[in-house]
This record gives sequence, structure tokens and C-alpha cells, in this order.
Amino acid sequence: MGTVREHGLIIKQNDYGDGHRMLNIFTESYGIIRAVSYGAKRQRNSSAASSQFMCFGEFDLYLSNRDIANVNSVSVTETFTPITEDIVKLSLCTYLADITYAMLGENNPDERLLKTLLNTVYALAYRNEAPDKVKAVYELRLMTIEGYMPNLGVCGCGSRETCAFDFDKGSMVCRSCRGKNSTSVSAGVYKAMYYITQAEDKRIFSFTGNDTLFKELENISERYLLTHIDRSFRSLDYYKKIKDM
Ligand SMILES: [Zn+2]
Repeated sequence: MGTVREHGLIIKQNDYGDGHRMLNIFTESYGIIRAVSYGAKRQRNSSAASSQFMCFGEFDLYLSNRDIANVNSVSVTETFTPITEDIVKLSLCTYLADITYAMLGENNPDERLLKTLLNTVYALAYRNEAPDKVKAVYELRLMTIEGYMPNLGVCGCGSRETCAFDFDKGSMVCRSCRGKNSTSVSAGVYKAMYYITQAEDKRIFSFTGNDTLFKELENISERYLLTHIDRSFRSLDYYKKIKDM
């Protein structure tokens, strides 16, 4: 306990009391923590970014025995401005932050997942990757890192003639083992799923495809994630609404 200096990404921010902000910061060593930034709303423009959604930087935090930390100061590294200025990208990031929180919970360190989220946000902000692709890659990679890596090999019965992905089993299945909660998978999408689950952390976006492929891919990754998290996300509904406008 006491004062620590931590790299972290703000994945949620809400107004709190008179001029303060309540933050969820995804930190390297402590996982997702709750922290209050006192007087955040009154700060001048130069420092206002330091309590905003998707701000990445070094946080001086005071950790007490209470479960809410205090932000003493922030040295901002990156604000991902192209995201905060684009409503589609912003709503997608809000959803990605929500599923990260839902899977990981608070006070559960996962440096690899933090890096993956940062790479994902970076790809959306600066590499102009298609939102559907970004969404699919993060959903599948999140599942993979958090212990739900899909089985893309042979069917549970031993058959190599797989034709569909079964969401309950998290596995490719053959015609006779296929359950209700499943979907056919095209060869291109299968290849992309295989790539995303196997690629090195830094190379998860290094594959190509067209809009149709990314659409099919993100339908599958979303349904797989939602089958296992077993809840809905308002941020997902909002993202879909905004994207189709
Ligand atoms: Zn089978």
C-alpha cells in the first residue's frame, strides 16, 4: 500500500461528486482498479486529458486499504485522439473496454491482456483497420487469453471432417456432433480464426480479408464471447446502431 507509479489505461470514466471523476484504470501490476481523480473536471485543458477515457500514461496512485485508489498525478503518454474524435471508433472502444472488465473483473493483474488491448486500440486509432476486424480480433484474442481458446482442430469424436463451429463447446465440430448453438464456417473465416488464436501477440492484426469475411468473423467471435459471458452489453447495441447510421 502507499504511493505507487503504474502504467495504465483508463477504460471507464464517470463524473463523481462535485468536479471529480471516478475512473477504472487497467494497470500493469494491479489489473483493473477503481480510482478517484479529485478536481479532474476543473483542471485546465492541458491536464483534462489525464482523466479521460482511453488515456494511457504513468499514474501516481495512492493505494489505501479502501478499494478505491487516489490519482495523485498523471504523466500522459497517449490519448488516442483519433478514437475520441470518431463516434464509431469511440463506441467500439467502449464495448471493448466493457468486455475486458466483464472477463477480467477488478484487481486481477493481466499484463498480456493490457498489451493486447493497447495494440487493439492503437490499430483502430492509427492503422485504420476496419472496425469489424478490430472487434473480431479482440473478442477472439480475449477469449483465448482468458482460458477459452477455441478448439480449431479435430471434432471431439475424432472426426477430421469438421464443418461448423459449436459455440457451447468452443470447438469445430463434424456434421453429426453439431449442436443447435453452432454455425457453418467458411474456409476463409476458419483460416482467420486460426491465425488470430495462434499469432504472436504483436502480429494479431497482420492478416488480410474483405468486408464480407470480417463481418462473418465478427458475428462468430461475438456470439462465442456472449455465449460464455452470458450477458448483454448496452455498449454493443449502441455500437451497432451507430455503425449502421
Ligand atoms: Zn464429431
